[in-house]
Amino acid sequence: MIYFQSLTQSELAQLLLPLSGIQKTGGLTPEEIQVKSEKRARYRAKQLFHWVYQRGQTDWDQMTDLSKDLRQWLKENIAIFRLTPQLNQQALDGTHKFLWSLGDSKTIESVIIPAALQSAVDLAEDLEEEKKVPAGPHAVGSRGIYSGKATQDDLKSTNWKRLTACISSQVGCAMACKFCLTGIQGLDRHLGVHEIVTQVYELRRLAPITNIVFMGMGEPLHNFENVVKACLILLDQDGLGFSKRKVTISTSGLVPAIEELGRRVDVSLAISLNASHDEQRSKIMPVNRKWNLESLMKACREYPLGSHRRITFEYVLLKDINDSLEDAARVYDLLRGIPSKVNLIPFNEHPGSDFKRPSDENVQKFQKYLVDRKVTATIRISKGRDILAACGQLRSIFGTARGTEKHRDWQAQQA
Ligand code: SAH
Ligand code: SF4
Repeated sequence: MIYFQSLTQSELAQLLLPLSGIQKTGGLTPEEIQVKSEKRARYRAKQLFHWVYQRGQTDWDQMTDLSKDLRQWLKENIAIFRLTPQLNQQALDGTHKFLWSLGDSKTIESVIIPAALQSAVDLAEDLEEEKKVPAGPHAVGSRGIYSGKATQDDLKSTNWKRLTACISSQVGCAMACKFCLTGIQGLDRHLGVHEIVTQVYELRRLAPITNIVFMGMGEPLHNFENVVKACLILLDQDGLGFSKRKVTISTSGLVPAIEELGRRVDVSLAISLNASHDEQRSKIMPVNRKWNLESLMKACREYPLGSHRRITFEYVLLKDINDSLEDAARVYDLLRGIPSKVNLIPFNEHPGSDFKRPSDENVQKFQKYLVDRKVTATIRISKGRDILAACGQLRSIFGTARGTEKHRDWQAQQA
């Protein structure tokens, strides 16, 4: 069985080609027959993308405009992958977290983050393009209505401007960033294309998702081929139909993969900068020992952004580690000449780590330093703290993480 969600539209058309031959061939050359068959296969692939991704149909038999033979072939050869939520929690701020169990009893998580308008910059960006919600079973015409169980008036109203799906790309992560709970767990395995796409597919059945960020578990560029293919499917206008601006890949800085990404697919880029100089960054992000800040910034400068687009730099603020005004000054220097915006994330404390979150006052000072120098810098309020929505945390408690010594100790303490 092949999973439907692992196929791009053109791959599906290829699979359908042998059964898309035309009956009446009289007078046609073999080349003409081939061209007609290919056209038919492409048409069928498009029909199937519409049925599955836009109309949400999961039963081949209900796809009434397909021939009986085709439906039978689909039943025998292609399965629509589904993810079942093992756990589904909503925080007071509306953040909705899902823990999915995969076929092999591993677990991953996705989060829906409703966002109200955060700044004038967001507004300007939203106005630049059509504010459309991509088509989907629960999305059509429903902007502003969140079909999940809202716990806040704000969420029920039209105040939110975005409903972002934060999705995972791996079970665990190999990058071992010191502050990150997923990093402490180590890598278990890569996710398949269908497992990445289906997170969005399932969330879209629940709510009119407008944006996707690869900021859940895992380093997306370490699972490069699967992530690129998943993006192509997410961007397919006959499929989930997201625009390139609304799909963001966040990376800890795998430089050659950033370069390759720019050549392969047109999506937005976020860099987890998290430090202002090499020594500091190498201490908390081992990936920096392989690709230092100079090479990372060079890759950012060369990333094909297109007009009006910027790279997001995420900066987790760790008390007394990277939160001084000297750090802010160095960040300012690093970003010179790169169309950028900075997302300051006060560290979300967790029992597996000794790092501390800086005071709100210090966070604001750091922001002010950048804003005073005309750098767009927003503070990301840690959404969903009451349900441990930071990277990796839900799974660590309920999941089946392989776990390192440190992580196991921590789990033992919790028991
Ligand atoms: N691996 C990718 C994407 C997943 S991590 C990456 O590193 O970019 C998503 C974001 O969560 C990263 O910017 C990371 O720095 C941040 N993060 C990880 N642990 C955190 C914590 N405990 N508190 C706040 N942010 C955290
Ligand atoms: Fe992996 Fe990102 Fe966590 Fe680093 S911050 S360990 S790259 S998930």
